Amino acid sequence: MIDPAVAQMLTKHQEKFLIPGNVVANVIDTNNLYHAFLVLTKVHYAKIIVLDKDGKYRGLLSLAMITEQMLETETVAVEKLKHIRVEQVMQTDAPTIVDPYDIEQDLHLLTDQPFLPVVADNGDFTGIVTRREMFKAINYLVHGIDQEYDIISKHRVKE
Ligand code: AMP
Repeated sequence: MIDPAVAQMLTKHQEKFLIPGNVVANVIDTNNLYHAFLVLTKVHYAKIIVLDKDGKYRGLLSLAMITEQMLETETVAVEKLKHIRVEQVMQTDAPTIVDPYDIEQDLHLLTDQPFLPVVADNGDFTGIVTRREMFKAINYLVHGIDQEYDIISKHRVKE
């Protein structure tokens, strides 16, 4: 359980946690990998969101998942990508969250994931919470806590 004083400081600018879906790069599950390869290369992200045509969350797609499909014994078969759909290779077991402002859950999951897709109970994709925004909140906490609270050690602290 996070101390309420710490939680209060971590969530002070919580409106910044959620990067809304309309500014998050995505590909559609039925797109072919050739198209997805171009999108991923252009946006400079290692992994992006996969949606269906109705805006429901389907999974994640990384450059590595695509390049794996291109590799043959001695060549790189780029044309092959035109015949494989995103949904055939995407990752579907990545953790998702419903509430972007659940700080306890965010911290726990962002330890292993660079970002968390926020997905409503009906499957609608609403955005992502990134490690970067969480780090900004932690930075604010560690640099500002002594300005809002007196911290008294329960143990002897060596200077
Ligand atoms: P960051 O913590 O900002 O480096 O973001 C971590 C990861 O989240 C990035 O590597 C991307 O995979 C993903 N990401 C962040 N912002 C966006 C965005 N606007 N669109 C798509 N993916 C994003």
